[in-house]
Amino acid sequence: MSGKKKPAGKQIALCLLLTAAVDGLGVLLVTLLAVKGIVGEDRVPQALGALAFCAAFAGGLPAGKGRLGPGGSLLNAGAFALLLLLLCFGGWGEGIAVRGLIRLALILLGGLLAALLCGCAAQPVSSQSFALDTVVTITIYAGGGEAEAQAALARVDECEALLSAHRQGSDIVFLNGADADENVLVSPLTADVLRAGLEIGEKTGGALDITLYAVSQLWDYKSENPQVPDEAAVRAALEKSGRGRVCVEGNSVCTGGTQLDLGAIAKGAVGDEVMACLKERGVVCALVNLGGNILTLGEKADGSPWTIAVDSPFGEGYAGRIEVGGGKAVATSSGAQRYFEKDGVVYHHILDPETGYPARSGLASVTVIADDGLTADALSTALFVAGEAQAARILEEQYPNVGAVLIRDDGSIRILGDVCFTEEAGA
Ligand code: AMP
Ligand code: MG
Repeated sequence: MSGKKKPAGKQIALCLLLTAAVDGLGVLLVTLLAVKGIVGEDRVPQALGALAFCAAFAGGLPAGKGRLGPGGSLLNAGAFALLLLLLCFGGWGEGIAVRGLIRLALILLGGLLAALLCGCAAQPVSSQSFALDTVVTITIYAGGGEAEAQAALARVDECEALLSAHRQGSDIVFLNGADADENVLVSPLTADVLRAGLEIGEKTGGALDITLYAVSQLWDYKSENPQVPDEAAVRAALEKSGRGRVCVEGNSVCTGGTQLDLGAIAKGAVGDEVMACLKERGVVCALVNLGGNILTLGEKADGSPWTIAVDSPFGEGYAGRIEVGGGKAVATSSGAQRYFEKDGVVYHHILDPETGYPARSGLASVTVIADDGLTADALSTALFVAGEAQAARILEEQYPNVGAVLIRDDGSIRILGDVCFTEEAGA
């Protein structure tokens, strides 16, 4: 599934139209000022030159990328007005070569500023796909367009082809079918993600366990008539888990007979790959959403922070919103994201690695704010399992730069670390 929300052709047409209108008015203005004698005849070519520079930078460059919005033309007008004022009243245009150079630098600076700002004021380009069992949305605000968004979606697909436990031919499917003592060569990405998963498992006292595949398969949340698995079956599946049995050396992995499930960390890890892909292609302002795992790149044009809604774990609506700057990752783990109900009991998909049953830690949802997607995703799952007291200790001792919003089963909220969270009124 792939959809394009803003046709680039229409945007370019709109941009060029607005730029032409602004610059047409500029030419009229220069002519008028020359006729009235406010701008000396000798300075008319300079005024028109300034106009051309502003037009080229504010209109031409960003429009070429198909992202210029009406803001670009306004900036074009603003930059030109400034240059014109200097021409008329600043004694500008006289003197020696040094002044000429300063003049040129000023023109370039004005034009570049306009180009930079109008890039951030541009209409965003947004593309979507379905991957990693969820909807993936890439929204680019500056530094790229449709081509960059499509490249990022292609990267998501490449990553899924390696990390999915359900996609034939993936590294994980291969590992889960390998002998207990077999050393399997995997891609560097898979090896890195496994290493990070094992390390976070260690730092969270085992709350995160990437070897729970046999157990999670028993909890058939997607079936139309899901059943609570037999206790003996859960125990037997749990026997196959144990992160301490997995060995990763370079790109060689030995599962020790466990079965791997990267469901708790894959989306975050892929988010990091997407960010790297966008940056490589020159994108400077973007928002990536992998089924609720959100990553921000760069600052918004108006300087305001990115606002990320936190879903209520108790039904429709939001519990609140988090404000973050660029370069952050926000991930939420909640029992409400995947569950079934049997005989009045809710069974959700976040498992306690000690019991093999849904974790009952007193928390209904955990949102984590970190500097990278993998950490945010892994910790949101782990802190959910760990519960409030242990979560606070884990962040304090192991992840002092990570923040979290914990929503307790009774709806009350606890903030851990430095988080800008506003509770939704009446939530
Ligand atoms: P998330 O939505 O990121 O919290 O991840 C939940 C998914 O991770 C589940 O659907 C399982 O596939 C897997 N999972 C469940 N419990 C755990 C756990 N304690 N540690 C690691 N993975 C888990
Ligand atoms: Mg997670």
